[in-house]
Amino acid sequence: MPEFRRLDSPEATVAAGQALAAAMRVLEVNQLIIFLVGDLGAGKTTFARGFLRGWGHSGRVPSPTYTIIEPYEFGSVEIYHIDLYRLTDPGESDDLGLTELPGPGVVMLVEWPERAGDRLPGPDLTVALQVAGDDRRDIGFRASSATGKRVLTQKNI
Ligand code: ADP
Ligand code: MG
Repeated sequence: MPEFRRLDSPEATVAAGQALAAAMRVLEVNQLIIFLVGDLGAGKTTFARGFLRGWGHSGRVPSPTYTIIEPYEFGSVEIYHIDLYRLTDPGESDDLGLTELPGPGVVMLVEWPERAGDRLPGPDLTVALQVAGDDRRDIGFRASSATGKRVLTQKNI
């Protein structure tokens, strides 16, 4: 992960998610796989809430810990907020149909992607969150595709 920056409050984590959504919208990127990595409590779901808000979602964003996949519709874009924490074996992800999801107009935000082993397609972007104290977190971004790089070079990310 290249460089971490400090997030001083949950609101700052939400703002970081919103900024990523804004960058994608400016560039008209509507297909992306985003991995959210970091320990329990690092702020992954909080970031996802900001990201969804950035796409115009104003309702609740429940953690997908139990449902595993929470879909959101935004006209031309579908966002799948996925949390694989509860998988105990990568094979359990086969029934979820994750490999069929990616495509034009589909954005995937995946918490605990490592739990699916190599059954998930690789990410365009990885967002790493770390606990840096009770009331702060650190965030870093890594791009793994040309589209991911384009999004990251957009101002404010
Ligand atoms: P995860 O999904 O990684 O398990 P959550 O997004 O559920 O983590 O966040 C866990 C807790 O951390 C929540 O109470 C959230 O408000 C808090 N939190 C998120 N970002 C920050 C931050 N930058 N500073 C302090 N607390 C944060
Ligand atoms: Mg979570």
